Order: sequence, then C-alpha cells, then structure tokens
Amino acid sequence: MADFDRMEANLLFCPKCREATPVRKRLLIVLPEGDKFDYVCSRCGTVSGDKIERESPPALGAMPAPPFARQR
Ligand SMILES: [Zn+2]
Repeated sequence: MADFDRMEANLLFCPKCREATPVRKRLLIVLPEGDKFDYVCSRCGTVSGDKIERESPPALGAMPAPPFARQR
C-alpha cells in the first residue's frame, strides 16, 4: 500500500516516465493569490505540473486581507 500520508494521490503525466504517475505535492512559493505548488513525479522526481491553491474561496466582495497571511 502506498504511503500517501495525508496528501492527495494525484496522477499527472510525467514527461520523463512518459506516463501518468503519482505525484508528490511540494510547496514552491507563497503568492498573494495563493500557495504555488509543484507536483513532483514520485518515481523520478521530475516536476510534472504546478498549481496555485487558494487558502480560502475567493470572496465576491472585495475583502481586504494581508497578502502573505498563511495559517495552518
Ligand atoms: Zn517520472
């Protein structure tokens, strides 16, 4: 059984393995619009994708928030 811990088990196409492989999520940078993650192939370590994940759903009304506020 794969040890995915609490991470999502995503499959992404890896250009090196030339097939969809399980990826690990790695926090790359914290941007004002969200946290940017790299998806790294769990087989060969190639970055096969990235994604910006918002901490909270975007509010329709302008809601002032500190740009780099992160809480876990
Ligand atoms: Zn790979």
